[in-house]
Amino acid sequence: MHKTAFIWSDRYSLYSFPGDHPFKSIREFMAKKFLEERSAFLTIDILEPPLIPEELLYLVHDKEYVEFVKRMDEKGSGLLDEGDTPAFKGIFEGALVRTSGTVYAMRLLMEEKYNHVINLGGGFHHAKRDKASGFCVFNDLALAIKIGEEKFNRIALVDIDGHHGDGTQELLRDDPKSLKISLHMFHRNFFPGSGNVDEIGESKGKGFTINIPLPPGTGDDAYLYAFNEIVIPAVKRFEPEVVVIMNGGDSHFTDPLVGLKLSTHGYLEVVKSLHDLAHKYSNGRLLMTGGGGYSYDATAREWAITTAEIAGIYDIEFEVLHDQEKTTSSNFVWDRVKDVVKRLKEIHNL
Ligand SMILES: [Zn+2]
Ligand SMILES: [Zn+2]
Repeated sequence: MHKTAFIWSDRYSLYSFPGDHPFKSIREFMAKKFLEERSAFLTIDILEPPLIPEELLYLVHDKEYVEFVKRMDEKGSGLLDEGDTPAFKGIFEGALVRTSGTVYAMRLLMEEKYNHVINLGGGFHHAKRDKASGFCVFNDLALAIKIGEEKFNRIALVDIDGHHGDGTQELLRDDPKSLKISLHMFHRNFFPGSGNVDEIGESKGKGFTINIPLPPGTGDDAYLYAFNEIVIPAVKRFEPEVVVIMNGGDSHFTDPLVGLKLSTHGYLEVVKSLHDLAHKYSNGRLLMTGGGGYSYDATAREWAITTAEIAGIYDIEFEVLHDQEKTTSSNFVWDRVKDVVKRLKEIHNL
């Protein structure tokens, strides 16, 4: 029923930026520990991903860019983008291992070996065809979706990271076989600056990109309102063969980089709804990756809770990992979220 694989490599630790950079692999390791302490791996299979050949990256990245990342890895210093993503020794292998994890997750779904596959080490939604961005080197999501399309005709991606999934949107902008939905904070000068309601995809992919820009301060109540009004009907209409969740932990109210206010309760409700939809429309096929998340403890708790929900082992032992309370939104936030929902219903005929 919930046959679940957890993709893991100890080499995920290679992809952890040095010094005071906020992106650290400790989140994944803490989440795994929370799961281990609750005997989750008696039910969930842990699998090590085989390393993909570099050439596979060319499905979504330029060869020159892949070579550039390799050179910068050897050099061990400098930047991979305009400032957010520093190079260091091990970043190429680290990024390749984590990308391999998401590709392997999709392959397991294609081979029908599991119906649920989780790769907390994945979710690099800012990476572009020819450049790194926002701590993301290779876009594992776009790559895995492209590979999945060799078998499946419709794959729905729901990105709940606090930042807009701009790299994935750009790489799959003309693709009608994938529905890209991103819920994110949208605010003046907030990274990456894109993700407004009028970005809906291009040419044949028009209408297959849905952006839900949310104001700072959006709590569980208004977030779930937008989710229930837009995401659920859009996914139902698309009837996906696979549901992919990009579960970035930085929409959490304690995150230092994003101003959204989701609690672990809000996260659980979102993942639970998508899990239900996957069973209803997608023969249960569900792939979940990690993503951002700079409040490490909150991200790890949220990932452990949602992993347990997907694996069908959520119980009182996971309940203790929750935040104390659900979060609410101000009237100002509610008005803006209602307006966004109204506009999206018109734009996407929902
Ligand atoms: Zn299930
Ligand atoms: Zn993020």
